[in-house]
Amino acid sequence: MDTITLTHKVQGLTLICRQCGNTEEAVSLDLGRFRVERLSRDAGTLRCLNCQAAVTIRLHELDPIAFARAG
Ligand SMILES: [Zn+2]
Repeated sequence: MDTITLTHKVQGLTLICRQCGNTEEAVSLDLGRFRVERLSRDAGTLRCLNCQAAVTIRLHELDPIAFARAG
């Protein structure tokens, strides 16, 4: 199981860190409790700013909030 999980919602994403309980309701890439570090064109790291846990993600998983920012 990933340390940080992303749950798609109708609008945006819910990010949950299972290591420390940090959560954020994200509607854009301007995150307050997590940070996205782009590794390549289609992969990145999602990091919890509270406990520094990190998981590698496919950037398309962020499409709901990436598109919100672009639009
Ligand atoms: Zn955490």
